[in-house]
Amino acid sequence: MARTAIVTGGSRGIGRAIAEALKNDGCTVAATYAGNDAAAAQFKEETGINVYKWDVGDYESCKAGVAEIEAAHGPTDILVNNAGITRDGFFHKMSPAQWAEVMRADLDSVFNMSRQVFPGMRERKFGRIINISSVNGQKGQMGQTNYSAAKAGMIGFTRALSQEGAFKGVTVNAVAPGYIGTEMVAAMDDKVLEKIVAQIPVGRLGEASEIANCVSFLADDKAGFITGAVLTANGGQYIAS
Ligand code: NDP
Repeated sequence: MARTAIVTGGSRGIGRAIAEALKNDGCTVAATYAGNDAAAAQFKEETGINVYKWDVGDYESCKAGVAEIEAAHGPTDILVNNAGITRDGFFHKMSPAQWAEVMRADLDSVFNMSRQVFPGMRERKFGRIINISSVNGQKGQMGQTNYSAAKAGMIGFTRALSQEGAFKGVTVNAVAPGYIGTEMVAAMDDKVLEKIVAQIPVGRLGEASEIANCVSFLADDKAGFITGAVLTANGGQYIAS
Protein backbone atom coordinates (compact mmCIF):
# COMPACT_ATOMS: atom_id res chain seq x y z
CA MET A 1 0.00 0.00 0.00
CA ALA A 2 1.26 3.49 -0.85
CA ARG A 3 2.02 5.30 2.40
CA THR A 4 2.59 8.97 3.12
CA ALA A 5 5.66 9.98 5.07
CA ILE A 6 7.07 13.12 6.67
CA VAL A 7 10.82 13.31 7.23
CA THR A 8 11.95 16.25 9.37
CA GLY A 9 15.30 17.64 8.33
CA GLY A 10 14.81 15.68 5.13
CA SER A 11 16.60 18.04 2.78
CA ARG A 12 20.18 17.20 3.75
CA GLY A 13 22.42 14.50 5.22
CA ILE A 14 20.81 11.46 6.79
CA GLY A 15 17.32 12.91 6.38
CA ARG A 16 17.82 13.27 2.67
CA ALA A 17 18.86 9.62 2.36
CA ILE A 18 15.81 8.61 4.41
CA ALA A 19 13.44 10.67 2.26
CA GLU A 20 14.89 9.14 -0.90
CA ALA A 21 14.72 5.59 0.48
CA LEU A 22 11.06 5.99 1.49
CA LYS A 23 10.26 7.41 -1.93
CA ASN A 24 11.95 4.40 -3.53
CA ASP A 25 9.80 2.20 -1.28
CA GLY A 26 6.72 3.74 -2.92
CA CYS A 27 5.81 6.31 -0.27
CA THR A 28 4.64 9.84 -0.95
CA VAL A 29 7.23 11.84 0.96
CA ALA A 30 7.32 15.38 2.36
CA ALA A 31 10.63 16.69 3.68
CA THR A 32 10.96 19.56 6.12
CA TYR A 33 13.91 21.85 6.75
CA ALA A 34 14.80 24.87 8.87
CA GLY A 35 16.42 27.58 6.79
CA ASN A 36 18.87 26.35 4.16
CA ASP A 37 16.73 27.26 1.14
CA ALA A 38 19.45 26.52 -1.40
CA ALA A 39 19.97 22.94 -0.17
CA ALA A 40 16.21 22.40 -0.02
CA ALA A 41 15.68 23.70 -3.56
CA GLN A 42 18.47 21.49 -4.89
CA PHE A 43 17.04 18.50 -3.05
CA LYS A 44 13.58 19.14 -4.49
CA GLU A 45 14.94 19.49 -8.01
CA GLU A 46 17.02 16.33 -7.76
CA THR A 47 14.45 14.11 -6.05
CA GLY A 48 11.03 15.55 -6.92
CA ILE A 49 10.18 15.45 -3.21
CA ASN A 50 8.22 18.43 -1.84
CA VAL A 51 9.90 20.53 0.84
CA TYR A 52 8.35 22.52 3.69
CA LYS A 53 10.15 25.07 5.81
CA TRP A 54 9.52 25.60 9.50
CA ASP A 55 11.23 25.27 12.87
CA VAL A 56 10.33 21.90 14.36
CA GLY A 57 11.20 23.30 17.79
CA ASP A 58 8.03 25.40 17.64
CA TYR A 59 4.76 23.62 18.42
CA GLU A 60 2.40 25.93 16.54
CA SER A 61 4.61 25.85 13.44
CA CYS A 62 4.52 22.06 13.51
CA LYS A 63 0.74 22.12 13.80
CA ALA A 64 0.39 24.43 10.81
CA GLY A 65 3.10 22.67 8.80
CA VAL A 66 1.68 19.17 9.25
CA ALA A 67 -1.79 20.48 8.38
CA GLU A 68 -0.41 21.94 5.15
CA ILE A 69 1.35 18.70 4.25
CA GLU A 70 -1.71 16.59 5.04
CA ALA A 71 -3.92 18.87 2.96
CA ALA A 72 -1.60 18.22 0.01
CA HIS A 73 -0.70 14.55 0.54
CA GLY A 74 -3.31 13.06 2.86
CA PRO A 75 -2.94 11.71 6.42
CA THR A 76 0.53 10.87 7.66
CA ASP A 77 1.32 7.16 7.93
CA ILE A 78 5.03 7.48 8.69
CA LEU A 79 6.81 10.19 10.67
CA VAL A 80 10.59 10.24 10.85
CA ASN A 81 11.84 12.64 13.53
CA ASN A 82 15.29 13.23 12.07
CA ALA A 83 15.94 16.99 12.37
CA GLY A 84 18.68 17.77 14.85
CA ILE A 85 21.54 20.07 15.69
CA THR A 86 24.64 20.09 17.87
CA ARG A 87 25.95 22.94 20.02
CA ASP A 88 28.97 21.24 21.57
CA GLY A 89 30.99 22.50 24.50
CA PHE A 90 32.31 21.33 27.82
CA PHE A 91 29.68 21.54 30.50
CA HIS A 92 31.58 23.97 32.70
CA LYS A 93 31.48 26.42 29.80
CA MET A 94 28.05 25.57 28.36
CA SER A 95 25.62 28.47 28.13
CA PRO A 96 21.89 28.17 28.80
CA ALA A 97 21.38 29.00 25.11
CA GLN A 98 23.55 26.05 23.98
CA TRP A 99 21.52 23.76 26.22
CA ALA A 100 18.12 25.14 25.22
CA GLU A 101 18.74 25.22 21.47
CA VAL A 102 19.63 21.55 21.38
CA MET A 103 16.74 20.52 23.63
CA ARG A 104 14.36 22.47 21.44
CA ALA A 105 15.52 21.23 18.04
CA ASP A 106 16.37 17.65 19.04
CA LEU A 107 13.84 16.73 21.73
CA ASP A 108 10.95 19.22 21.89
CA SER A 109 10.62 18.64 18.15
CA VAL A 110 9.85 14.98 18.74
CA PHE A 111 6.89 15.92 20.94
CA ASN A 112 5.84 18.77 18.64
CA MET A 113 5.74 16.56 15.53
CA SER A 114 4.54 13.27 17.01
CA ARG A 115 1.69 15.06 18.78
CA GLN A 116 0.31 16.21 15.42
CA VAL A 117 0.19 12.78 13.78
CA PHE A 118 -0.29 10.26 16.61
CA PRO A 119 -4.06 10.81 17.17
CA GLY A 120 -4.82 10.21 13.47
CA MET A 121 -2.57 7.15 13.37
CA ARG A 122 -4.47 5.69 16.34
CA GLU A 123 -7.80 6.33 14.68
CA ARG A 124 -6.68 4.74 11.41
CA LYS A 125 -5.00 1.90 13.31
CA PHE A 126 -1.73 2.26 11.46
CA GLY A 127 1.33 4.36 12.04
CA ARG A 128 5.09 4.36 12.14
CA ILE A 129 7.04 6.87 14.20
CA ILE A 130 10.81 6.53 13.85
CA ASN A 131 13.11 8.71 15.93
CA ILE A 132 16.70 9.30 14.91
CA SER A 133 18.63 9.22 18.16
CA SER A 134 22.41 8.74 18.41
CA VAL A 135 25.10 6.49 19.81
CA ASN A 136 25.94 9.45 22.01
CA GLY A 137 22.47 9.28 23.55
CA GLN A 138 23.22 5.67 24.46
CA LYS A 139 26.74 5.97 25.83
CA GLY A 140 27.11 9.71 26.60
CA GLN A 141 29.81 11.85 25.00
CA MET A 142 32.02 14.42 26.63
CA GLY A 143 31.41 17.88 25.23
CA GLN A 144 27.83 16.91 24.44
CA THR A 145 25.84 16.89 27.68
CA ASN A 146 23.06 18.76 25.87
CA TYR A 147 23.03 16.49 22.79
CA SER A 148 23.48 13.25 24.78
CA ALA A 149 20.60 14.23 27.08
CA ALA A 150 18.30 15.09 24.19
CA LYS A 151 19.15 11.92 22.27
CA ALA A 152 18.73 9.74 25.38
CA GLY A 153 15.41 11.53 25.94
CA MET A 154 14.29 10.42 22.49
CA ILE A 155 14.87 6.82 23.52
CA GLY A 156 12.74 7.20 26.68
CA PHE A 157 10.04 8.86 24.59
CA THR A 158 10.18 6.01 22.07
CA ARG A 159 9.80 3.33 24.75
CA ALA A 160 6.91 5.11 26.46
CA LEU A 161 4.91 6.03 23.35
CA SER A 162 5.40 2.56 21.87
CA GLN A 163 3.35 1.20 24.76
CA GLU A 164 0.54 3.65 24.02
CA GLY A 165 0.52 2.95 20.30
CA ALA A 166 0.96 -0.83 20.21
CA PHE A 167 -2.69 -1.77 20.62
CA LYS A 168 -3.65 0.73 17.92
CA GLY A 169 -1.24 -0.50 15.26
CA VAL A 170 1.17 2.37 15.74
CA THR A 171 4.79 1.34 16.20
CA VAL A 172 7.35 3.72 17.67
CA ASN A 173 11.02 2.89 17.27
CA ALA A 174 14.38 4.63 17.37
CA VAL A 175 17.46 4.31 15.23
CA ALA A 176 20.73 5.16 16.97
CA PRO A 177 23.36 5.95 14.34
CA GLY A 178 27.04 6.02 15.07
CA TYR A 179 29.20 8.53 13.24
CA ILE A 180 27.93 9.10 9.71
CA GLY A 181 29.78 11.09 7.07
CA THR A 182 27.43 14.09 6.83
CA GLU A 183 28.03 17.85 7.10
CA MET A 184 27.38 17.62 10.86
CA VAL A 185 30.37 15.30 11.22
CA ALA A 186 32.50 17.06 8.57
CA ALA A 187 32.28 20.16 10.77
CA MET A 188 34.30 18.37 13.46
CA ASP A 189 37.98 18.94 14.04
CA ASP A 190 40.09 16.55 11.86
CA LYS A 191 42.08 15.20 14.81
CA VAL A 192 38.93 14.48 16.81
CA LEU A 193 37.43 12.73 13.80
CA GLU A 194 40.57 10.60 13.35
CA LYS A 195 40.30 9.44 16.96
CA ILE A 196 36.63 8.63 16.48
CA VAL A 197 37.23 6.52 13.36
CA ALA A 198 39.94 4.64 15.26
CA GLN A 199 37.24 3.55 17.73
CA ILE A 200 34.91 2.16 15.05
CA PRO A 201 35.60 -1.57 14.53
CA VAL A 202 34.47 -1.52 10.89
CA GLY A 203 37.16 1.13 10.34
CA ARG A 204 35.12 3.85 8.68
CA LEU A 205 32.30 6.33 9.12
CA GLY A 206 28.84 5.11 8.28
CA GLU A 207 26.94 6.24 5.20
CA ALA A 208 23.63 8.08 5.31
CA SER A 209 22.12 5.36 3.12
CA GLU A 210 22.94 2.78 5.81
CA ILE A 211 20.75 4.67 8.30
CA ALA A 212 18.07 5.11 5.64
CA ASN A 213 18.02 1.32 5.21
CA CYS A 214 17.20 0.94 8.92
CA VAL A 215 14.34 3.42 8.63
CA SER A 216 13.03 1.77 5.48
CA PHE A 217 12.91 -1.56 7.35
CA LEU A 218 11.14 -0.15 10.42
CA ALA A 219 8.66 1.82 8.28
CA ASP A 220 7.58 -1.22 6.30
CA ASP A 221 4.24 -2.88 6.95
CA LYS A 222 6.23 -6.08 7.60
CA ALA A 223 7.82 -4.54 10.73
CA GLY A 224 4.51 -4.39 12.61
CA PHE A 225 5.73 -6.60 15.48
CA ILE A 226 8.72 -4.37 16.24
CA THR A 227 7.98 -1.51 18.59
CA GLY A 228 9.83 0.26 21.40
CA ALA A 229 13.10 -0.89 19.87
CA VAL A 230 16.37 0.97 19.45
CA LEU A 231 18.15 -0.19 16.32
CA THR A 232 21.82 0.62 16.66
CA ALA A 233 23.86 1.19 13.50
CA ASN A 234 27.31 2.25 14.58
CA GLY A 235 29.87 -0.06 12.99
CA GLY A 236 30.38 -1.85 16.30
CA GLN A 237 31.55 1.29 18.11
CA TYR A 238 29.19 0.71 21.01
CA ILE A 239 27.39 -2.54 21.66
CA ALA A 240 24.22 -1.62 23.50
CA SER A 241 21.71 -4.10 24.92
P1 NDP B 1 22.53 17.73 8.97
O1 NDP B 1 23.07 18.86 9.76
O2 NDP B 1 23.27 17.26 7.77
O3 NDP B 1 21.02 18.06 8.53
C1 NDP B 1 20.11 18.45 9.51
C2 NDP B 1 18.74 18.64 8.89
O4 NDP B 1 17.84 19.02 9.95
C3 NDP B 1 18.67 19.76 7.88
O5 NDP B 1 17.70 19.44 6.90
C4 NDP B 1 18.23 20.96 8.70
O6 NDP B 1 17.58 21.98 7.95
C5 NDP B 1 17.24 20.27 9.64
N1 NDP B 1 17.00 21.00 10.88
C6 NDP B 1 17.88 21.31 11.86
N2 NDP B 1 17.26 22.01 12.84
C7 NDP B 1 15.97 22.15 12.46
C8 NDP B 1 14.84 22.80 13.02
N3 NDP B 1 14.91 23.43 14.21
N4 NDP B 1 13.68 22.76 12.34
C9 NDP B 1 13.58 22.09 11.17
N5 NDP B 1 14.61 21.46 10.59
C10 NDP B 1 15.79 21.49 11.22
O7 NDP B 1 22.34 16.55 10.03
P2 NDP B 1 22.66 14.98 9.90
O8 NDP B 1 22.08 14.46 8.65
O9 NDP B 1 24.08 14.75 10.20
O10 NDP B 1 21.84 14.40 11.15
C11 NDP B 1 20.48 14.04 11.05
C12 NDP B 1 20.03 13.45 12.37
O11 NDP B 1 20.83 12.31 12.68
C13 NDP B 1 20.18 14.42 13.54
O12 NDP B 1 19.10 14.26 14.43
C14 NDP B 1 21.47 13.96 14.19
O13 NDP B 1 21.51 14.30 15.55
C15 NDP B 1 21.40 12.48 13.98
N6 NDP B 1 22.69 11.81 14.02
C16 NDP B 1 23.68 12.17 13.15
C17 NDP B 1 24.89 11.53 13.18
C18 NDP B 1 25.98 11.85 12.24
O14 NDP B 1 27.04 11.25 12.36
N7 NDP B 1 25.79 12.72 11.29
C19 NDP B 1 25.16 10.47 14.17
C20 NDP B 1 24.05 10.18 15.03
C21 NDP B 1 22.87 10.84 14.94
P3 NDP B 1 18.47 23.10 7.15
O15 NDP B 1 19.07 22.37 5.99
O16 NDP B 1 17.50 24.11 6.75
O17 NDP B 1 19.51 23.57 8.12
